[in-house]
Amino acid sequence: MRDTLIIFVDSLPYRTLSQMPFLNAAPEIWPIIPGFGYSVNIHAELFAGLLPDDVGYFGEWTYDPELSPGWKWRSILPLLDKLFRPYILNRGLQHLLMQGYRPGRIMINIPLRDLDKFALKGDHILDNPQSFPHPSLFSKFPHLKVLSIPHLPKGERDLSLYRSALNTVHQEGSMLLPLPDLDGFGHAYGITGTPYRAHLDFLDASIATLANKYRAAHPDGHVFVISDHGMVNVAQGITLDIEAYAGKASSQTYVYFTDANLLRVWVLDEGKNDVIHTYLQQLGRGQLVTPEERQTYGLTSPGFGDFIFVLDEGLAFAPSTFARHKPAGMHGYHPLAPGQQAVCSHFGPPWQGDSPQRMSDVYHMLCSALGGTW
Ligand SMILES: [Zn+2]
Repeated sequence: MRDTLIIFVDSLPYRTLSQMPFLNAAPEIWPIIPGFGYSVNIHAELFAGLLPDDVGYFGEWTYDPELSPGWKWRSILPLLDKLFRPYILNRGLQHLLMQGYRPGRIMINIPLRDLDKFALKGDHILDNPQSFPHPSLFSKFPHLKVLSIPHLPKGERDLSLYRSALNTVHQEGSMLLPLPDLDGFGHAYGITGTPYRAHLDFLDASIATLANKYRAAHPDGHVFVISDHGMVNVAQGITLDIEAYAGKASSQTYVYFTDANLLRVWVLDEGKNDVIHTYLQQLGRGQLVTPEERQTYGLTSPGFGDFIFVLDEGLAFAPSTFARHKPAGMHGYHPLAPGQQAVCSHFGPPWQGDSPQRMSDVYHMLCSALGGTW
């Protein structure tokens, strides 16, 4: 068995490697295609080899009325929504009503009237690796030490993690170091923003120091630097006007949920099916995920939405259930869009198998390293 250091950089795009001289000189580098959606699913594929169909959720929130935070107020929500029509008041009361529902999780930006429709279902594997209810890297290889992410403000966690790792990395056997902060810099400033570029510089220098120190202590070991998806600048916000076309959404007709650039529609009245299908086809700023793609990416469960639509790179719904305004940077577009590719880079004995292409390939590669077959 070879000792293995895995450095996981959240949101590191393959396309930005040219700005990271140390990482760009890794002996082996592969672009990796993420799955549809966001980290909650991509991490399940990367660290457990599981697609949305395997884990039973797609996205953190899904249509599930009886488990929704507003189910107990469902009879008065339409009235509250009318009374609290101004945006700030509406979301203010929504946040008040949702206090106590899954503390510590990012709450969604939905109108009061929809508070009885959606529930949190997906859990992040890295939040509590040992309690993930499926076999994963963490249950299969208990000798893999996972550094936990400190409860510090976003933007300050990577430095703290780097300092912890610097003191011990040469003494460790196998270790996973997560570096979560680049994602927030990308959303807040875009990938051309100065703070984002400065953080890339910090990451490249930190990774160089840690990788060199680890390899000096473990000359036969592996060092991986991996990420979950890319990031692109968002040029334009899109206001969704589905209700102007398909009529009012409700628990009797259809419901929809707009993650920043992903739209899921659940059709409750079959009579609405064609009009919604036509609307999405003519929208022209993205694409409907096809049945073939739903098969390929493990999205066949009808519970994930009757329609899944993804905007073109560089667009975001504004408002969405993610935020009121468009972010400066975003990910979660079509997995084959050029800015979405993630990174798998490797220092150590060369890989003899096929080049990894998807997250599940990286998972199997990591299993080979940690399991001693590579
Ligand atoms: Zn993100």
